Amino acid sequence: MDFPFWPRRVYFEKKALDYWRGENLYRFFREKQVPLEFASSHNRVTGIPGNSPEEKFIESKNTLVVGVRRTLDFQGCRPSANYQLPLLTGCPGRCHYCYLHTSLGRNPYLRVYVNLEEILGVAREYIEQRKPEITTFEGAAVSDPVFAESFTGAVSEAIKFFSNQPCAGFRIVTKFARVDSLLNLAHGGRTTVRFSINHPGIIKRYEEGTSSLDERIEAASRVYRVGYPLGFMIAPVLLEDNWKENYRLLFENLSNKIPPENNLTFEVVTHRFTLRARENILRYFPRTDLEMETQNRRFKYGQFGYGKYLYPDEVWKEAQEYFQHLVESHFPRGKMEYFV
Ligand code: SF4
Repeated sequence: MDFPFWPRRVYFEKKALDYWRGENLYRFFREKQVPLEFASSHNRVTGIPGNSPEEKFIESKNTLVVGVRRTLDFQGCRPSANYQLPLLTGCPGRCHYCYLHTSLGRNPYLRVYVNLEEILGVAREYIEQRKPEITTFEGAAVSDPVFAESFTGAVSEAIKFFSNQPCAGFRIVTKFARVDSLLNLAHGGRTTVRFSINHPGIIKRYEEGTSSLDERIEAASRVYRVGYPLGFMIAPVLLEDNWKENYRLLFENLSNKIPPENNLTFEVVTHRFTLRARENILRYFPRTDLEMETQNRRFKYGQFGYGKYLYPDEVWKEAQEYFQHLVESHFPRGKMEYFV
């Protein structure tokens, strides 16, 4: 089997071995001679090597932790879904602007959970409570969820689970092209697979360790061919010199490869940052040229009480209209779900 991600070390929570998934993973990594350690909790892993924040960050991104998910009240996930579905945490990619630098703070190591049946059981309760309304779950709120698929099969299990839930929808989004293990599943049209894309100049500068644009689009067309609802997330939109032309070329490229009669969805997220995010980004990527000057932005209080820096209103509105135009002109049956 082909492994898109291979850990340098794996930590196990002792409790994880009480679950068959945990036991299997332990046996698997031991046979593969990956260095194994134990941790008292997946939230408190110590001993990851590295002499500087950058080194430690990279080593953490190569460290897998196998644990039991104990917090089973799902957080909200607007605008993409009603709730987060916590199948895994973290991502081996190293995008400069990744939201995980803030949400995971100093613990960017990768976590997979062995109590999948319990997690999906809670999802079932949420669905039952809201019936007959449709309840949607985001599988990528705190991770890029496909990186561990060849070890855990967690996304596949979730897709199969949701295929039998007429009052629910599941959504994942990824910057990785290794989605082949999802292609033969009975998805029942209840899972939307989205690819997070940007124009190639941005991917090259800021999205280290992810698939190229061409690979993502190629993977998207494979997903489309087996009937999954398909979407694209363009995030973050950077309004640099030439942004209109660069994003026009991106849409042109996309429409040459994905049939325009498809009901694609688009989610567009302009670049924003908090002061805490900026501090974390500069700690891990001290040489980044990502633009984060507060005087070029407007300040807005976010839903959790902290302030973030967005593009000024005027350029933000211009970008919103431009992206609406790009969607309509390239994908007449497509829909821009939101622009933020
Ligand atoms: S691929 Fe997504 S989750 Fe992974 S580092 Fe990049 S932005 Fe973060």
